[in-house]
Amino acid sequence: MIGDNLQAVRARIAAAAARAGRDPADVRLLAVSKTHPATVVAEAFHAGQTAFGENYVQEALEKMDSLSALPIEWHLIGPLQSNKTRIVAERFGWVHTVDREKIALRLAQSRPASMPPLEVLVQVNVSGEASKSGVSPGEVNALARAVAAQPGLRLRGLMAIPEPTDDVVLQRTRFREVREMFDRLKADGLDVDTLSMGMTGDMEAAIAEGSTLVRIGTAIFGARGRSRAPAQAEH
Ligand SMILES: *Cc1c(COP(=O)(O)O)cnc(C)c1O
Repeated sequence: MIGDNLQAVRARIAAAAARAGRDPADVRLLAVSKTHPATVVAEAFHAGQTAFGENYVQEALEKMDSLSALPIEWHLIGPLQSNKTRIVAERFGWVHTVDREKIALRLAQSRPASMPPLEVLVQVNVSGEASKSGVSPGEVNALARAVAAQPGLRLRGLMAIPEPTDDVVLQRTRFREVREMFDRLKADGLDVDTLSMGMTGDMEAAIAEGSTLVRIGTAIFGARGRSRAPAQAEH
């Protein structure tokens, strides 16, 4: 069943890319497995999915431990507090939610020299919601430069979670704003290649505006229970 869902999501990505005149291979799929058990992650892995996103550090570590035999690429997509930077730098391949220089420096200092640099995305608060994480658009460039300057980190691009809306025009406006920030980083000479935007409800709009990585949970694993806090709550 998860294999069928993955296939359906890949078909949605391919169709959206085709409509935008883009190569579907330029849009990566990150399976968001928060709240779902390791057995389900293993099932998706065996159906061909290798990159997984988790929101809560402790929950992710438990799954990493039970799935350590599988070569999974783990992405942290939830808020990162400074007391978790060391373990995150030691265990994750990617972090999508860097929004302060202090966090970037701590991740860089803690990244083991034996590992490749940590792949980092700067999270931008594109909707300007007070409750949301992310730097304001005006701070993106400075933080991106600070990340790029750290030897233990590799700046890959930007991540955004616009306010949820069914209004496709508004979805596209927000995603376009993020893509324009991404284009400015490139124009400023930063070597970025990843634009993490789009979830189950808005992946088509995100792909139309240039997303290179969609973070999909519900369409792959089904609805999440109510026992967990919402995605952006501190945990
Ligand atoms: C939960 C979550 C997703 C996946 O959302 P779905 O709507 O279930 O696809 C993507 N990104 C972030 C940051 C999330 O917290």
